[in-house]
Amino acid sequence: MSFEIKEKDLLGRIGKLKTKSGTVETPLLFPVINPSIQPVPTRRLKEHFGFEAVITNAYILKKRYGDIVTEQGLHGFLDFDGAVMTDSGAYQILVYGGVEVNQAEIVDYQERIGSDIATMLDIPTGWHVRKDSAKVTVAETLKRAKALFKLKTRQDILWVGPVQGGRHLDLVQKSAKAMGKLPFQIHALGSPTEVMEGYRYDVLVDMIMTAKMNLPLNRPLHLFGAGHPHMLALAVALGCDLFDSAAYALYARENRYMTENGTWRLNEMDYFPCQCPKCASSTPKAVLEMLDKEREVFLAEHNLHVCVAELKRVKQAIRDGRLWEHVEMRAHAHPALLSALKRVTEYEDFIEKFSPTAKQSGLFFFDYVGLSRPEVVHYRKRLQERYRPPEDVKILLLLPQTRTKPFHKAEEFKKVRQTISRVQNDKLGCMHICFYAAPFGVIPLELDEVYPLSQHEVAQPLDQEVIDYVASQVAAYIHRSPCKAVVLLHDQKTWGATVKKQCRTACTKKSVAFECLGVHGEASKEILTRLEMILKKNLSE
Ligand SMILES: [Zn+2]
Repeated sequence: MSFEIKEKDLLGRIGKLKTKSGTVETPLLFPVINPSIQPVPTRRLKEHFGFEAVITNAYILKKRYGDIVTEQGLHGFLDFDGAVMTDSGAYQILVYGGVEVNQAEIVDYQERIGSDIATMLDIPTGWHVRKDSAKVTVAETLKRAKALFKLKTRQDILWVGPVQGGRHLDLVQKSAKAMGKLPFQIHALGSPTEVMEGYRYDVLVDMIMTAKMNLPLNRPLHLFGAGHPHMLALAVALGCDLFDSAAYALYARENRYMTENGTWRLNEMDYFPCQCPKCASSTPKAVLEMLDKEREVFLAEHNLHVCVAELKRVKQAIRDGRLWEHVEMRAHAHPALLSALKRVTEYEDFIEKFSPTAKQSGLFFFDYVGLSRPEVVHYRKRLQERYRPPEDVKILLLLPQTRTKPFHKAEEFKKVRQTISRVQNDKLGCMHICFYAAPFGVIPLELDEVYPLSQHEVAQPLDQEVIDYVASQVAAYIHRSPCKAVVLLHDQKTWGATVKKQCRTACTKKSVAFECLGVHGEASKEILTRLEMILKKNLSE
């Protein structure tokens, strides 16, 4: 196996990809090398920036340099001793129409120059493409994919099988399923430049997830044409392992300055929000006054530094189990990214299935977007599928979450606990104590300390979507509980009327008694006396 997964969070993973020029760590960003206009020498990319791999275009090499590359070898020609990936020229077909090269030639060329990772000559679907044309690109790519395994002669090159279909998700699904059955080591998703330029990251989420759900998960996925640091975390979280960036150089030529939160125009900047070796010792004004070439190199190098830094942050977030928090942070840099994160809700079941949910660190819960995170989805499913509410219970006692955790040890809960013990001493019958809490919903007291039910922080006040979610979880739990009465300690200030309303409706439906007592923080003496009375009354019935 050429790909080994070491760490996981969400669908993101830190992996080792073995190539004939060495093992590289994923998530991996390949800077795109254009030998004729390369602002940063390839050797420097490795030595100064630590890039273990680069990507270049085999079609352009063949056309411009032909046998020079064959003779020197790809690594010698580029002066790069890391892993080199080659693209086949498929993108040029998309942009300029037909290419005067056929698959046999480009496969043979990539083998002769010694690519470590090579790409078949697929047919990119593109963006504004009608379904019937898109279908043709999927079918023709698949036909060529099958032919590739008869054409190729070397065994030490990793071959990339691109998934096509564009925004026609049923075609993406079909393409992914079929390509995944062929013995490719790596898959790729053609992400049309239009999706990126139009900031349609929500569409990109659909495309990535459709491909991901239908490809073998143990093969790395390359997201073509995507390498902007502000969307890297999101793409990694959805299971993309490999990226390429031509943007670092293209943007530099256009005086555009990358940051992990978006791209700024150099002439609109007064300060550099970056301490990379370039920015630390300069100012936007000084860079604007540089000669064109010098400025281009400055910006290209800064852009690379930003990409590397963000990649490292994403990897650390995977290791710490905090990739969701990192994605949420980045998503708030641009509405299009937040729209994309909201879109992830559609795929929460799949992500939950393959994401680790037991972690070392606690969770930060900001708003309802976090309801889609795997830990919340996992708990909901577990409670429904694996947890059986205790039998022979007369009362279901629902208590509001406390500021401190675990809830049952909280100071606010102390007097209620004493009241409950007093009632229980009378041995009138059983009651089951549960907390209702954001974001997890219903937490039976005996599970209160199970991870992550006590290991999270929630932003207050809660938004209505979160309140609605918890209320619906409470109602669902009442429906399942064999109790004869529900007693709710109702914290109106935190929960408004929603939880109470849903409880009452659920009780009416089930024809069980419903009692409600208002509290906020510590319960008053009067409330405790009433609670004791209500509990005793319902237990004796
Ligand atoms: Zn910088």
